[in-house]
Amino acid sequence: MSNRAGRDPHLVVVGASLAGLRAAESARRSGFGGAITLVGAEEHLPYDRPPLSKEFLTSDDPSPTVLREGAVLRDDLAIGLRLGTRATGLDASGRVVATDDGDIPFTSLVIATGATPRNLPGGDQLRGVHVLRTIDDARAIRAAIDAGARTVVVGAGFIGSEIAASARTRGCEVTVVEALPTPLARPVGETMGRVLASIHERHGTTLKVGIGVDGFEGEATVRAVRLADGTSIDAELVVVGIGVAPNTGWLTDSGLQIGDGVECDDKLCTGVYGIYAAGDVARWHNPTFNARMRLEHWTIAAEQGGLAGRNAADPAGATPFETVPYFWSDWYGNRIQFVGIAAGADEVVTVLGDVEGDSFITLYRQGERLIGALALEQRSQIMKYRAMLSTGASWEDAMAFAKDRAAKLAAKAAAADTG
Ligand SMILES: Cc1cc2nc3c(=O)[nH]c(=O)nc-3n(C[C@H](O)[C@H](O)[C@H](O)COP(=O)(O)OP(=O)(O)OC[C@H]3O[C@@H](n4cnc5c(N)ncnc54)[C@H](O)[C@@H]3O)c2cc1C
Repeated sequence: MSNRAGRDPHLVVVGASLAGLRAAESARRSGFGGAITLVGAEEHLPYDRPPLSKEFLTSDDPSPTVLREGAVLRDDLAIGLRLGTRATGLDASGRVVATDDGDIPFTSLVIATGATPRNLPGGDQLRGVHVLRTIDDARAIRAAIDAGARTVVVGAGFIGSEIAASARTRGCEVTVVEALPTPLARPVGETMGRVLASIHERHGTTLKVGIGVDGFEGEATVRAVRLADGTSIDAELVVVGIGVAPNTGWLTDSGLQIGDGVECDDKLCTGVYGIYAAGDVARWHNPTFNARMRLEHWTIAAEQGGLAGRNAADPAGATPFETVPYFWSDWYGNRIQFVGIAAGADEVVTVLGDVEGDSFITLYRQGERLIGALALEQRSQIMKYRAMLSTGASWEDAMAFAKDRAAKLAAKAAAADTG
């Protein structure tokens, strides 16, 4: 069967990580009978990134978590793998992906090329200075932690904080340097950013906020990090965690609309028939919040990949991608989870636990609506708020639910005490 491009159906997915893998698999499982090719710049089979800043750095047996074995992809799902192959350009109307290993024609395409960490000037020229995105980055950081390196993390975002927590847990001396006065103010707001920052201090990690990094000291190998106030911090390991940029360079001449990521509609379509984007590289219109978003969260990349794959397999029947943003982060053995959005909140109210303790839930209000919830060590509770957010729950309903939960938990604790 050939399609409207006059070719046999061929779905090409560029980016062989979480979103790309889910796209290829879901297209096949939704009944797509044509060829599927998964193209990835890394040599590795798709692997999971979240453990790289957590278990991979702390456990006795650091090994990558492969998301799917090659045999399953090739033999069970008939997905062709082109690993170690980088896409270099896209001819959207001619329907061809150019790669460093030849052209690949397609009838439909999913772009899932993720993002690349930003570095500081000079950071890529000194041994001992790293970013963290790949298994190879993680191996180098792990080796330095194994050697007990004095560690400086530049940037107190979630990934930087996880690396700091992992290095500290392994007994390293750790300093986190953050240019903003409050860490994490954008993802969780000022008030809760301060609360999360205090977790570092409780675990003996030094946090320096409101100060920039001027540069590095050292010849071939880093010796210290120089701060904007003229002081410096000695370090054998520096990890720069100052955010990422979406991998769109290869699409520059494609005619696709590129802004902060690949611009998509609510169905994750780029505006060109049969060409979709998913994961960290995609910016789309999220009907649940009536806002354009580009998220860098595992769950969203997985969900988007699945939908983009199904839509690419059947563009005529494409459906929208609606979601409540969700991410988690693990620091010092504690799980932080956030659902919804924090920007524009009028008020935050802690409805369970204590923000100075080891467990709490805090809700975010905007006008009469619930817009977000942050949890520390409340692993199942938070998903109830995610469900409420997906239905546009009012603040009143959310507070009533929270009061009911708190009363039930108190009654359970009292019964356990007397029993
Ligand atoms: C260390 C770390 C810890 C994290 N922890 C958490 C967490 O605790 N919770 C959470 O919610 N999220 C976490 N995340 C975020 C989560 O892992 C990402 O949201 C997710 O990996 C995004 O998947 P993706 O497939 O869109 O992009 P990526 O995983 O970045 O994959 C993109 C792939 O495309 C390839 N590629 C790029 N350009 C090209 C090209 N031109 N041609 C071919 N291939 C190309 C890349 O090599 C890469 O393999 C973490 C991320 C990192 C790095």
